[in-house]
Amino acid sequence: MTLRTLDSLGPLEGKRVIVRCDLNVPLRDGVITDDGRVRASLPTLNALINAGARVIVCSHLGRPDGAPDPQYSLEPVAQRLSELLGAPVAFARDTVGESAKDAVASLEDGGVVVIENLRFNAGETAKDDAERAAFAGQLAELGDVLVSDGFGVVHRKQASVYDLAQLLPSAAGLLIAAELDVLDRLTENPERPYAVVLGGSKVSDKLGVISHLLPRVDRILVGGGMLFTFLKAQGHEVASSLLEEDQLDTVRGYIAEAAERGVELVLPTDVVVAEKFAADAAHEVVAADAIESTAFGASGIGLDIGPETAARFADVVRGSKTVFWNGPMGVFEFPAFAAGTKAVAQALTEVDGLSVVGGGDSAAAVRQLGFSDDQFGHISTGGGASLEFLEGKKLPGLEVLGWV
Ligand code: ADP
Ligand code: MG
Repeated sequence: MTLRTLDSLGPLEGKRVIVRCDLNVPLRDGVITDDGRVRASLPTLNALINAGARVIVCSHLGRPDGAPDPQYSLEPVAQRLSELLGAPVAFARDTVGESAKDAVASLEDGGVVVIENLRFNAGETAKDDAERAAFAGQLAELGDVLVSDGFGVVHRKQASVYDLAQLLPSAAGLLIAAELDVLDRLTENPERPYAVVLGGSKVSDKLGVISHLLPRVDRILVGGGMLFTFLKAQGHEVASSLLEEDQLDTVRGYIAEAAERGVELVLPTDVVVAEKFAADAAHEVVAADAIESTAFGASGIGLDIGPETAARFADVVRGSKTVFWNGPMGVFEFPAFAAGTKAVAQALTEVDGLSVVGGGDSAAAVRQLGFSDDQFGHISTGGGASLEFLEGKKLPGLEVLGWV
């Protein structure tokens, strides 16, 4: 591991240090429902403050369309950060405009400013290299050095993650270093049996992961939104549940490959089907091969794994020595559909070995369901980033920090 660390940047007193954090927290009505990512950013920020740096914090939040959108403002996050640091935090109403320039110019040594959402600027996520580089150039004018610490975005080739790191002297922050320590333990001689539990709603993103994981793990458990593509691939009807029709052949390939490799692919045997996508929706538990047999017929939506499946998943998890989990088993935000996620989370806390939870919503889920961080081996701030790392992919945001 050749990742450049903070000390490679030399003395930071009086220097303007841009810190790329991942402060993409879940918000409901402007209130932060899980501040885990803000807390995870504290060690690096405190180190920089103590070193007398002038700290310029940047992050994305949500998926605004490359233009300002008040519902995705980082202002509530800046407030929360100030509470957690126990120190004032300035807030700039733009990212690279007058407000940001003024706020940076007014920074004192050890002071902190949060600049507005990076994704209010189309250049942040532009596919066009020149457009991205232009925005990175504007960011670079704000600071002297870059500390990259947004682990949740290191798999993205984005202006603040990738291009900016090449314009300024740059190093990884303490969060990225800590995350990579754990991921190393998951990739280098993991204790076996090694299980990966997949769920959530970014189905097409996560299906691809499976082909890379098959050679590395002993067990793959599939819940959440992607389970329906598996059931359909096995010839079962899934009513109006999440489905990726165009992935059916791919998934059939995975099922065959798992069998060839002797990887245990654990699929649900029962499902909770709801009348509609709502917290108070009527619902029934049915066998996984009879989803259309409920009173809701073809309009039913599968919103959680069933109790039999939850118990089986919990057994398999508890019986593993290394477990990585990404993606809730159901729509845990609605209490009626949180049981599967809760059962799997509980089992993870009982693993005699290394248990890792990865992903923004997965981390929020375990906290919302009443578990505490120290009940798990590690709670990663990055779902997609962790998965791509486990797949053995080169991550652009790490390569620019010297990682090979
Ligand atoms: P993470 O952020 O942990 O990587 P994702 O973003 O992929 O996870 O997915 C999280 C979301 O998946 C949650 O908001 C949850 O409600 C949703 N989800 C889980 N199961 C289902 C399902 N059966 N149908 C629709 N959405 C689901
Ligand atoms: Mg998510």
